[in-house]
Amino acid sequence: MISPEASSDHARRTMRANPGKNTGPELTLRRLLREAGFSGYRLHWAVASARPDIAYPGRKIALFVNGCFWHQCPHCHPARPKANAAFWESKFEATMARDSRQYEELRSAGWRVLVVWECDLRDHPESVVARLTNAISGVDGGKCA
Ligand SMILES: [Zn+2]
Repeated sequence: MISPEASSDHARRTMRANPGKNTGPELTLRRLLREAGFSGYRLHWAVASARPDIAYPGRKIALFVNGCFWHQCPHCHPARPKANAAFWESKFEATMARDSRQYEELRSAGWRVLVVWECDLRDHPESVVARLTNAISGVDGGKCA
């Protein structure tokens, strides 16, 4: 059983130093990908204005690791703050608009976009790895996630 909480002190320092980059879930996913034998990824690879968290440029596969709160996860529906509702609403909308713009840019450049949600990675790491393994090794026929 893999514990997504097993992030090191170094990882926590990195998170504080780079807010929004190298988040806990992203580090977890990178470790799982390495363990599954897919270590040839690039971090924050640029495609137009998109910066997928993890990219396999040779296979044109882009992975985004989305925090449920910031990206307003459609699976676990995180609660939105009640105070300053309008502020948060516009913040979430901007994040989601940026997400869709990046996914579209990648897809129109011939990339495949896979989104990994924080809750899924935390609760079902083995199914996340299975899905990514199929996608990266191309056995599922190239469907979009
Ligand atoms: Zn979620």
